[in-house]
Amino acid sequence: MKITDVEAIILRQPEMDVSKADGSQDALLIRIQTDEGITGIGEVDSLPPVIKAIVDAPPSHAIASGLRHLLIGENPLEIDRLWHKLYRGSIYYGRQGPAIHAISGIDIALWDIKGKALGQPVHRLLGGPHRTAIRAYASTLMPETPEETREAVSGLAGRGFAAIKLGWGPFGRDADLDVALVRAAREAAGDEIDLMFDIGLGWPNADHAIRQVRRFEEYRPYWVEEPFWPDETAAYRKLADAVETRIACGEEDATRWGFDLLMERTGVDVIQPDVTRAGGISELARIAQLADLRGVAMVPHSWSTGIIKAASLHVIGAMPNATFLEYCVQETALNQLLTVERFPVVNGMVELPEKPGLGVEIDEEVVRRYAVPA
Ligand code: MG
Repeated sequence: MKITDVEAIILRQPEMDVSKADGSQDALLIRIQTDEGITGIGEVDSLPPVIKAIVDAPPSHAIASGLRHLLIGENPLEIDRLWHKLYRGSIYYGRQGPAIHAISGIDIALWDIKGKALGQPVHRLLGGPHRTAIRAYASTLMPETPEETREAVSGLAGRGFAAIKLGWGPFGRDADLDVALVRAAREAAGDEIDLMFDIGLGWPNADHAIRQVRRFEEYRPYWVEEPFWPDETAAYRKLADAVETRIACGEEDATRWGFDLLMERTGVDVIQPDVTRAGGISELARIAQLADLRGVAMVPHSWSTGIIKAASLHVIGAMPNATFLEYCVQETALNQLLTVERFPVVNGMVELPEKPGLGVEIDEEVVRRYAVPA
């Protein structure tokens, strides 16, 4: 089998609220064609036009090339060799950031092809599944007020979620408001539901964060996420060492090398690599093993369409110690409609896809409606 084409397709809803931290308003779809008629799909949750440029760019020299050029004519089943070819071929401008994001989407599409070629779901090719359904936590933006927070949590609890994360929005503006929001969430959730809080880079320093996390404690947060910029590793270390509450981070980080350093420097309890940014399905499986060695939990970041839900589910299902799927509940069309499959939550659980490859089909009408003309 040979790769005949690699397409990077930008999808974008007509009206965008770019002031919100909601990356499900647009998407970058990867489509890899082969000479045997099998097509693989992948996704990248990054800045779509930048990713498209990285895929489409013509080569400059041996270690500075656009990615499409490196893939045409290659055997798509040799995923690990191709991952390393792409990494090496983009090393002057890559290693971290958008080049690794683009490689991630390509890696996902290659796993889709391999699964379809072999008639097996990706989780089985990875050596799983260790379980056939994964506990989902609802992931949404923190509303502006305690009243709205109560409403949002009650609504999600009513949909059967046994865990709920609220993030970004007003977190970090005012120390007392932070606590009021957390208290409102716990009051609406009752005792049984796990609650996570994503501070969205909102706290100024470790001392402030330590005080705030201690104030949160009586409302029993399951974890507190990303209070600082990803590069402020010393602040993460100070906070993680000082409090009992789990600290989570890593959605902006990538590769086994990046996560090895991140875990070494921060001492956090939970890492959150995103399968569409951190290096794809192949690299998440490697990062999971590194996390396991250190006794750190890996709960992949996942905030976009059905493609990322499927790719995350396959990796999580193949991990021996997985806990949660992050389940984005935004009402955006691309989150809800891009894949035909809807991933229903039943008793707080989502079933692993069982069809070959990623096990999802793209709704081509949605692609036609939202594709940005090249
Ligand atoms: Mg987050």
